[in-house]
Amino acid sequence: MQLRGGASVEVADEEEEAGGEGSDAYEAEEDEYDDDEIDEDEVELGLVKPMPANRDEWDIDFAVGKVGGVPRWLDPRAPLAPEDVECATCHKTMALLLQVNSPDDERPHAAARSLYLFACRSPGCLAKDPAQALRVWRTQMESPNAFFPHTDETQKERKRLEDALEPNSALSSKPSTPARPWPEFDIGAEPEPYEESYLPDPAAPALDNEEGTEDATSADTKTGVDRAFLQFQERLEREPKQVLRFYRIPGVDDPQPLWASSKTISPSEVPTCELCRSERKVEFQVLSTLLSSLSDDSFEFDSLLVYTCANNCAIPPREGGKTGWACEVAFKQDFAAEGVKFGQR
Ligand SMILES: [Zn+2]
Ligand SMILES: [Zn+2]
Repeated sequence: MQLRGGASVEVADEEEEAGGEGSDAYEAEEDEYDDDEIDEDEVELGLVKPMPANRDEWDIDFAVGKVGGVPRWLDPRAPLAPEDVECATCHKTMALLLQVNSPDDERPHAAARSLYLFACRSPGCLAKDPAQALRVWRTQMESPNAFFPHTDETQKERKRLEDALEPNSALSSKPSTPARPWPEFDIGAEPEPYEESYLPDPAAPALDNEEGTEDATSADTKTGVDRAFLQFQERLEREPKQVLRFYRIPGVDDPQPLWASSKTISPSEVPTCELCRSERKVEFQVLSTLLSSLSDDSFEFDSLLVYTCANNCAIPPREGGKTGWACEVAFKQDFAAEGVKFGQR
């Protein structure tokens, strides 16, 4: 299971009684949704939950992620600087839309791995040019590392570093920020309900009625937009509270997001990784269902798609040997017939 930060499965299991998400529950779900038994790609959903009353109880190592607020850095010795998240249209510092933990259990260099999605809050910037108003950053560490596993010492060191972050930075832990943070929420994860899970034999061939997401690509031009939109809505209805869809699931090699319109993003439109030249694949999708939590009428989208290096390559350290950062890409997609707006950096 991917959506638990900070550690390989073994280490996390040892830490279970320390108050993290119970990994037994995750494993049980994984069995239930065995790859061989279903005929559609597995998708993990993200749901908005209230933050713990005491913010310090929100634990980056075990959390799926969070919406809004100021970033909680995977490595607080190596925060991003405001210039890393400057809107190229209005030159203001972007705000954190959300951060997600997505550890890679197969690559030790990314055993702890987080993605941060920033967006410009200036009215009109996102609509005008998503490429300039969205920024995705990937960072990762080995595990164990300086902050994991949890001991009094490693936790104290994290707290010390977080408290010492530059108070005038828009990205510090102090709320003296030019980029107003959006309201902060925790993110919980659950598997997408399987539409035909009531069938007695889930291994039986799927009825060939469906309208899988792939059909969106072949929809004809007259009805294409409506059809993609309908499929989108239908799929959302399985769990209307979902705000995120996670696609980086073991065993799913070529995940397809939920297309908001019939004009899909072809692999050739997605730039390859600048570091290792691997292709990028969709890792997660942010849905407009998130907007009601943001209380921000001037910020709007129907769907945001985040593509990351499929090879999840090592990231060179920054100056001074600090944990490095890699820029990934985001696209904004709307229901309108105008289709996809390119949203790279
Ligand atoms: Zn802007
Ligand atoms: Zn790469």
